[in-house]
Amino acid sequence: MTGRISHWIDGKPWSGVADRTGDVFDPATGEVSSKVDFASTSEVAEAVAAASRAFPGWRGTSLAGRTKVLFAFRELLSARKGDLAKIVTSEHGKVESDAAGEIARALENVEYACGAAQMLKGGFSENASTGVDVYSIAQPLGVVGVISPFNFPAMVPLWFVPNAIASGNTVVLKPSEKDPSAANFIAELFAEAGLPDGVLNVLHGDKVAVDGLLEHKDVKAISFVGSTPIARYVYETGTRNGKRVQALGGAKNHMVVLPDADLDLAADAAVSAGFGSAGERCMAVSVVVAVGPVGDELVGKVADRISGLRVGNGHEPESEMGPLVTAAHHTRVKSYVDAGVESGASLVVDGRGIEVEGAAGGYWLGPTLFDHVRPEMSIYTDEIFGPVLAVVRAESYAEALELINGNPYGNGTAIFTNDGGAARRFQNEVEVGMVGVNVPIPVPVSYYSFGGWKDSLFGDSHAYGPEGFHFFTRTKVVTSRWLDPSHGGVNLGFPRNS
Ligand code: NAD
Repeated sequence: MTGRISHWIDGKPWSGVADRTGDVFDPATGEVSSKVDFASTSEVAEAVAAASRAFPGWRGTSLAGRTKVLFAFRELLSARKGDLAKIVTSEHGKVESDAAGEIARALENVEYACGAAQMLKGGFSENASTGVDVYSIAQPLGVVGVISPFNFPAMVPLWFVPNAIASGNTVVLKPSEKDPSAANFIAELFAEAGLPDGVLNVLHGDKVAVDGLLEHKDVKAISFVGSTPIARYVYETGTRNGKRVQALGGAKNHMVVLPDADLDLAADAAVSAGFGSAGERCMAVSVVVAVGPVGDELVGKVADRISGLRVGNGHEPESEMGPLVTAAHHTRVKSYVDAGVESGASLVVDGRGIEVEGAAGGYWLGPTLFDHVRPEMSIYTDEIFGPVLAVVRAESYAEALELINGNPYGNGTAIFTNDGGAARRFQNEVEVGMVGVNVPIPVPVSYYSFGGWKDSLFGDSHAYGPEGFHFFTRTKVVTSRWLDPSHGGVNLGFPRNS
């Protein structure tokens, strides 16, 4: 008996009957665990209407009132994080400790949004002209859409929702149809925290729901995270429809290892960042660039570490890496391994034959390592989004840098070295939005902002942090005179300050 997952509109589960539904799978068994409703344009309209109705009241709620809800939500999320981690594992497949990690990061974003009062302060200039004061106010946009990917079903919605509602907006969240339950759990916790009905709505579905939000005249802004082709489409369609859009896309993150690096540290980092969450992270390291003579030793150390990794059901505490998210994604990732072999890369560790006891139907692929990968091979050019790590050999720092800067993606990168000068040069010269120095997954903390460059982000605002508040507000500047209003009569000249 499978459950049903439906929309959350106006503070309650949607009670209608969906025209279309999708299957949600347990990736560790391959079994259908539930059916999720797919929104048609009329459900999109319902969700946007609920958010529109809620907007005047929420916009008018004091900063103290809004942050009170966020503080209460923070407490509830912290208390229930174990339950949410289990939900994430059941539909995504990642191990529970990893799911707990994404929720910990999500909590930091909520905590940051609790400081909305500080972030929303405007500026004030007294006596800008004689007797004239000028001040700025940050006001909410209205109804905003958040469209999120499968790989962080809790964290990515909580990159945006807290700042959006703290700023006084109302939200329609469209999570991934592959793991939709986390979004409903979050919406229910917000309701319990005292968020008024309609301020946060969850709409499930596919392209129909996304297009509905992109085209709806009452949706003022879209925050999207997903693959690059869809991010580009969302950016182009949303902006054409007059919306403010930030669309974060895919990645191919390089980790450069210089000859003077601590190779044990680098090997630990490459394995952790390459295979954590089965490589289904936008900040996963998918390419290691071994510079100069370190290649053989580094590859040996990485291979040794891979042999100790435990792949299994994410609910079992001893598992370190879970399955891939769906059968289709499993087939796609495996086809890249086949293509890598055909193109002549050296397959050092082959994850294709893996078997997990008692779970034959799961979407398993073991950690896979290629060496001597060339930039023209598809395992280098394409975002695989699986547990496949490619090692490229480079003669010099300059060659490594050229490789990264020539890549269309620019999400994250890292350098491993003991040479501070080389690291300083790299952070200055690399064309990537988030850079790690001896840190393989440089996801910025909540009080900075997250965003890549080039094909990894369309739009000019990064996610969360200060740029998140900037994205979800528009500025109004007031010029006012109260004292000694001049009665100088009509003057058609351009106003001058004096
Ligand atoms: P995806 O692009 O397939 O889906 C993302 C969202 O878009 C989902 O809500 C989905 O329902 C919707 N969507 C899918 N196809 C669509 C279409 N044709 N038209 C309109 N909407 C559509 O991405 P995914 O597979 O869920 O997530 C993995 C991708 O997300 C990877 O490329 C990964 O790098 C990227 N990602 C990027 C970041 C980042 O911050 N840059 C973070 C997480 C994930």
